[in-house]
Amino acid sequence: MILGGIEAGGTKFVCVVGTGKGEILKRKVIPTTNPEETLNAVITFYRDQFIEGLGIASFGPVAVNPDHPRYGSILATPKAGWANTPILQILKDALGCPVAIDTDVNVAALAEAEKGKAWDVKTCLYLTIGTGVGGGYYDGELLHGRLHPEMGHILLPTGKDDFKGICPFHGNCLEGLISGPAIEARAGKKAQLLEEDSPIWDEVAETIAQGLVNFQMVLSPERIILGGGVMHQKHLFPRIHKAFYRLINGYLPFTEEEVECHIVSPGLGDDTGSVGALMLALKGLKQGQSAFEG
Ligand code: ADP
Ligand code: ZN
Repeated sequence: MILGGIEAGGTKFVCVVGTGKGEILKRKVIPTTNPEETLNAVITFYRDQFIEGLGIASFGPVAVNPDHPRYGSILATPKAGWANTPILQILKDALGCPVAIDTDVNVAALAEAEKGKAWDVKTCLYLTIGTGVGGGYYDGELLHGRLHPEMGHILLPTGKDDFKGICPFHGNCLEGLISGPAIEARAGKKAQLLEEDSPIWDEVAETIAQGLVNFQMVLSPERIILGGGVMHQKHLFPRIHKAFYRLINGYLPFTEEEVECHIVSPGLGDDTGSVGALMLALKGLKQGQSAFEG
């Protein structure tokens, strides 16, 4: 079965053609400019590919719940020109195949559950820590609820250095405290230039662990996958493991070794979004009309 998968991001749309097994056959990268230009280029690419279904992993906020009155539309994004773009409808009309849409992080959770580091468990949480912080959750279905989770905006205490956080809405939410730009504001230099032995990394790891403990208590994932630019700092993993274990404080049955296998880096690398989008297209086709705008 030939499917299409789009990783729709704020700077580029990565469009792939692939199989229902997640093999990528063709790829085209299209810059994210205005919706008309970008979506026209997407349509031109897919028009002669004979895809049977399309999955879109989209930046948010996006109406992913089929019951939402504006299902398949990008909502109030600060990305110029993109607010209220009915991306699902536009692509469905132009390509004449079923189209499924979900958040980039939900799709990443799906990819890791099907083909990555959570292949052996039923539930998985994916958190990306980059320019922003976002999370997705998969337990056989992707978690939507009223809109979709916004895991980056849970409220957390400030650290020992009393950094107040940079989220314009909340100050010290997870994203406000430990996103790449938050680390930059805290350190006075880009996160990738901050020395490994800086005490700021201890604060960052502690806050990430606090967030993960909260997610663990609420959602009970069997695996937590941490992606995004900031998590290229591999030294964060052991620090997060230690802090998570300490904060759980014996309340949940985790050994220290289990924590190390519980919180891990992504298994699919740069292909997570593309593979997930193909999995989403397949899932949509299987689910048929009810959960799918076909
Ligand atoms: P985006 O979130 O924009 O899709 P990334 O996940 O790469 O892209 O996140 C970009 C952010 O991550 C920037 O704030 C950048 O400073 C930070 N970042 C990127 N690479 C690293 C790194 N190796 N170490 C620490 N921070 C990084
Ligand atoms: Zn916030």
